Parts: sequence; structure tokens; C-alpha cells
Amino acid sequence: MQTSTYKIKGMHCASCAISIEDTFKKTAGVVSANVNYGTEAAKVSFDESTISPADLSKKIEPLGYSLVVEEEQTMAGMDHAKMESADELKVMGQKVFSMIPFAVMSIFIMTWDILGSLRYVPKMSNTEATFFHHLLPVMATATLAVLGRPYLLGIYRFIRYGKANMDTLVGIGTSAAFLYSFALGAFENVLRPYLNVDQGYYDVTVVVLVFIALGKYLELRSKRKTGDAIEKLLNLQAKKALVRRQDGEIEIPMEEVVHGDIVIVKPAEKIPVDGTIIEGSTYVDESMISGEPMPVKKNVGDSVVSGTINTTGAFSFKATKVGSETMLARIIAMVEDAQGSKAPIQALADKISAVFVPVVLVLAVLAFGSWLLVAPQYIGFAKALSAGLVSFVGILVIACPCALGLATPTAIIVGVGKGAREGILVKDAATLETLHKANVVVLDKTGTITKGKPELASVMNFSGQDDEEVLSVLASLEKKSEHPIAHAIVTHAAERKIALKEVKDFQAIKGKGIEGTIEDVVYYAGNTKLIADLRLAFDTATLAEETKRGKTPIILATKEKVVGVVMVADAVKPEAIVAIAHLHKLGIKTVLLTGDDSNTALAIAKEVGIDDVVAEVLPEDKLNKVKELQAKGLVVAMAGDGVNDAPALAQANVGIAMATGTDVAIESAGITLLHGDIAKLVKAIELSRVTMRTIKQNLFWAFIYNIIGIPLAGGAFYPLFGWLLSPIFAGLAMAFSSVSVVSNSLRLKMIKL
Ligand code: ADP
Ligand code: MG
Repeated sequence: MQTSTYKIKGMHCASCAISIEDTFKKTAGVVSANVNYGTEAAKVSFDESTISPADLSKKIEPLGYSLVVEEEQTMAGMDHAKMESADELKVMGQKVFSMIPFAVMSIFIMTWDILGSLRYVPKMSNTEATFFHHLLPVMATATLAVLGRPYLLGIYRFIRYGKANMDTLVGIGTSAAFLYSFALGAFENVLRPYLNVDQGYYDVTVVVLVFIALGKYLELRSKRKTGDAIEKLLNLQAKKALVRRQDGEIEIPMEEVVHGDIVIVKPAEKIPVDGTIIEGSTYVDESMISGEPMPVKKNVGDSVVSGTINTTGAFSFKATKVGSETMLARIIAMVEDAQGSKAPIQALADKISAVFVPVVLVLAVLAFGSWLLVAPQYIGFAKALSAGLVSFVGILVIACPCALGLATPTAIIVGVGKGAREGILVKDAATLETLHKANVVVLDKTGTITKGKPELASVMNFSGQDDEEVLSVLASLEKKSEHPIAHAIVTHAAERKIALKEVKDFQAIKGKGIEGTIEDVVYYAGNTKLIADLRLAFDTATLAEETKRGKTPIILATKEKVVGVVMVADAVKPEAIVAIAHLHKLGIKTVLLTGDDSNTALAIAKEVGIDDVVAEVLPEDKLNKVKELQAKGLVVAMAGDGVNDAPALAQANVGIAMATGTDVAIESAGITLLHGDIAKLVKAIELSRVTMRTIKQNLFWAFIYNIIGIPLAGGAFYPLFGWLLSPIFAGLAMAFSSVSVVSNSLRLKMIKL
């Protein structure tokens, strides 16, 4: 099975996405398909032994589309696709703008006609009227020839394959106006007794086509802008790299850098691939991937990632990740994936769009029929027929599933892209949608609320030997552990130049501590739970004074007795206090979840203002705590480091991983915050809220517009108020609807989080 994403050519409207998706899903060998009008791309999973991408393309060609099947979607390939689509936009613009004078002319004639008959301006003379009468069909024919192609093809496909889309509606509407006007002129003498032969609708054909094409052009142009986050990310990529190989220093394209290459980076240059510094030191501006404005100090042994920019130092590094493995490449892939994914809120709009076109066709015919059946007895046949035609065309033109189809994806594209620029990586649209409903945030203590770099604060010694001896035993054990606490103790011992001992049979005791054998004595180091498990007599009250100040005790014991206690303190991140207050302002409850001592946890929670504390939980119980909250009907977002909190992160409605290193896509997390900063957690929630708000506004306008537009165009208000919408205004409204939805989504970019 293969899953690939292909660009699609020829999509003009949101309902296209649905018909392409349907066609793929009905094709043998296709397992799943997801087509997005926002990104103009299809993500298809298929069995490559049954069907090939070229076959898939053939399936949709009768509908007027094709897949862009490339050997590999390389970065260079993406650049190429970008250029091609820029050309497409240019050609479209030229066509539209060349036809605008005709639209202006038609509107001028029409306005004169109406104002003249109302005696606001002098009536057209006979000569003038005859001239315009002959000019209009020429302009209408030219407009159809230049702009009409997609719409006429829409009619052709409807007749040939029975498939209709938005283009079909516009095609039928504009050509009906054209043909009716043509018939009036061609059979003028025959029809004169029955119809108003001077009332043609060539101007409708011209103006509607120009408006709709202009709307499409503006929509496409804006839609391109919604996706420019990817473009910006692609631009971060260095094109070339200077590497040191046997034959000296050579400059090669970035794609050709291989693992183990020594890459040389000069001041102010972009870092081309990921790697580890082997020589030199510098500050690197990583703001483009982390959103952190301050350049980061880098020494030998530190890692650097592609797309970040060296400041003033010079250094060389060994390439560890190249090509599609680099952090930047993975961020781009992740953002593209997320932008192409569907938010659940889109489901309703999709369902409606799927039946929209046939329903509108039926409505248009019904409206036409009702005019002919009911109206002649009141207004005469001639007037009824032209009103019927106006309704028919108006409904076909004003009904627009486009705005409905654009409402969600454009906002998702902008929202996800905006997040990426701030170091907030969203896995998919569904995550963004769920996050805005979160009403409780569960926070891991170490590294999320505290700096995650504890320091040794004090030593209590019950051993009868000197402090150095106790610290030597403890540090030797901790040397083998990866916990931040262990690091604090080992560093402290090293600073005091305390010699370490050999440890045998080392073992970590999950959520409690560690054990190991030194000089044939079994030692344990850990929290009070561990001491309780060992059934040692130890009065934890002696620790209370320190733990209540937020310090964590590490108790060192043998099987017989407690030897000593070391207190470590992990300072609270100053931004945590601000962030928690901000969360509360957003109406979100906070819970601190930690394996640490409960006094310690309470003290920390109090310091930063967290509402609730759940302490002394084993890693596997963190998951159950999340479940408990969910059982109360709460929507839980959980923020953790993504490593030992993975199960709980996965259980939460939204798992938010605070990434520190070069880990971008943490499996269990729906959202990854680069440069794990809790302030970003608040931004992520705000991002989800503004994105969802935008989607809801878009959907509201798209629905309202059709709900009001269709009956208005159909003449439903005619009997009451004498209102009948001119198809020209229908065209204007239709063009405006999609443009306004896309513009509203683009507005998201401007909002400050
Ligand atoms: P958390 O990430 O919330 O601190 P852990 O499960 O990693 O949760 O750790 C829980 C507790 O177990 C720690 O607070 C500490 O008391 C004890 N512990 C874990 N590892 C060690 C270690 N290497 N040395 C001493 N104590 C440890
Ligand atoms: Mg932890």
C-alpha cells in the first residue's frame, strides 16, 4: 500500500474536491482518499499493484481535472510547482482584466436603459439603442469565448457523464441567458406578438462571467496567500552547502550532503542540514523554527538544525540528518499534512456541498416552472417568461457551494501556517478543533512548570560518616540515571570533586527512584514511596519544612536504614506564572500532575497559581488521572515532555509536547511546541480559538448567503415586495461570497496571539 499526496490541476471550486474524492473512493484499489480544495491536493492511499497514480489521473480527467504525478516531490519539484501555479494565476488575471471593459460597457448600457425609462436621464435615441443592441451580442460572444471555457466544459461534462459541479451551474445560467437573447433577435418577427423581444440578456452573460471570473481570480490569489507559510519555510532552506571532503572544501547543492559530511558554516550563513558542532562556537538565530527571538549559544557537541541562521561565529559540524530527515523538512511535511487534513466541523458543509449542485439545478427549474404556471395570469406571459428566465439564471449563478467549501480549509491553512511560524506544530486540523474546546490543562511539573534543571540545595546526613561519603554513594548511583534530579546530584558531586564508586546491578524503580549495589551493599535512592516500600522507619515529617518550600527530597537508604537525604530545588519558570494566570483568564482550569512529593508539588502549584495538584503518581497512573478528568466530562489538554508522559499525552483529548531538542513530531502529541516554553501553550490555545472562530464566521456567512440568496434570486419575495434579483447582482454576490470568506481567513494572519 502506498500513500502519497498529489497536486491537482483544474480545480475551480470546492465541490470539485468532493466529486474527485468520490471518484477516487469508488475506484478499485483505492483504500482512502482525501481531497482538499484549500491546498488543491489529494492524499490517496492505494494498492500500487492494482492501480497507478497515472490511472488515478485518468479517472478524473473526464471531470476536467488531472493529478500532477511526479517521480518524487522534492524541494526543487515544489519550487517548480509553485512557479507553474504562479503562471496559471497570471494567465487567468490577463484573461479577466481584458474582459473588464466589456463588463463596464454592459453595465453602462444597462444603467442608461433603466435610468432612461425612469426618466432620470434622457432616453436613448433610436440610433443609440440600435447600436447597443448590436454591440451587446458581440461582447457576449467574445466574453464566452475568452472566459466561458470552464463553464461550457461544465455543461459538456454534465451532458456526457452526468456530472455537474459549480461550473455547470454557471455554464447553464450564462448560456441560457445567451441563447434566449439570441432567439429573441433571430426570430424577432415570429416572437414579437408573444414576447418582449427588446428585453435581451446578453449583458447578463457578459457581466456574470466577468464577475465570476474576477471572483475566482481574486479567490485564487488570496488562496495562494493562505499557503505562504509553507513557502516561507521552504525559503529558509539553504540551497548550497560548503563541505570538507578528501579533495578539499567544495560547495555542493544542499540535496547532495550525505551523513557524516563535515559542513562549514560562515558568519551570517544559513545552516543547510542538521548536525552536531565539532569545531568552533557561535550564536544561532533559531527564531524561524522556534519563534524564540534570542540567538542561542552553540558550542562543540551542540546540535544545529537546517533553516536556522548563524550569527557572527564560524564553525563546522558533522551532518547527522540530511534531505528529508532534517528538522526543517519534517516541519514542512508536518505542516503540509496538517493543512491538507480535514477538520470535523467541515463535515456538514461537505454533506451539503455534495448534494448542492443537483438540488440547485432542481430549484432553478422549479422556480422557472412556477413563474410560467402562476405568473402569467397576473403579469402576462411575456413578462412571466422573462422573469422566469431571470430567476432561473439568478439561482444558478448565486448558489455557491464555493464559499461553503472554502470556509474551513482556508482558515485551517492559515491557522496551521501561523502556528508553524511561532514554533507551534499542529498534527492535524482535528487537533486544532478539539483544542479550542479544552477546559482543563494538565501540566507536568518537571520541565513544564519548573526549569527541569534542579540543583542540590542541602544534605541531611544520618550515616555517621562525613557528607562526602554519602554524596559519593548517591552520585555514583545517580550517574547511571537519566532523571534531571540525577543530573543535579552528579553535577554537585563533580563540583566538589568527590570521587565516584563502582555500581553493580543498577536498576530504575519507575516513579520512585533507583537502586544499585556498591561494595556489596544494596542502596536505594528515591522518594518517600520507595522508603515506604522498603518498610524502613523514617519520619517524613522531618522533611516537611523543606518540601513545603518546593524542594524535592532524595532519600538514600540501605535495606536496613536511611543513610541520608539530599534536597534538590528546581526553580519555577518565571513565564509559568504568567501563563497560568493567562489560562485562568481564558476560563481554563489547571492541574499539576507529578510523580514528585505532594508537599513539594503543592508548594510549586501555589507559587505559580495552579488550581489542583495530583502528586506522587506513578507514570502509568498519569494516564488514569487523565481518564478520570475525562470521565467528569472535561476536555483535557495535557502538556508534558512527550517522553515519559507519552501514554498520558496520548490519552488526553489533546496532547501537547514541549519539545526541547530536535524532536519535531512527537508521536503521542497532537501539538508540539518547539523550544518547550509554557507561554506557547497559551498561544496554541488562542490559535485554536481564533481559527475556530474564523471558521464559524465563514460557515455562517456562507450558509446565510445561500439561504437568502437563492429565494431572493428565485423571486420568492416578488409577490410580496416586487423584489426580483437581477442575475447581474447574483453574479456580483457570488463573486463576493468566496472572496470574502478567503479574506476573512487571511485576516487570521494579522491577529496577534
Ligand atoms: P516526574 O517527571 O513528575 O518527576 P517521575 O516518574 O520521573 O515523575 O519521577 C517521580 C519521582 O521519583 C521523582 O520526583 C523522584 O522523587 C523519584 N525519582 C525518579 N528518578 C529518580 C532518581 N534517578 N533518583 C532519585 N529519585 C528519583
Ligand atoms: Mg518526568
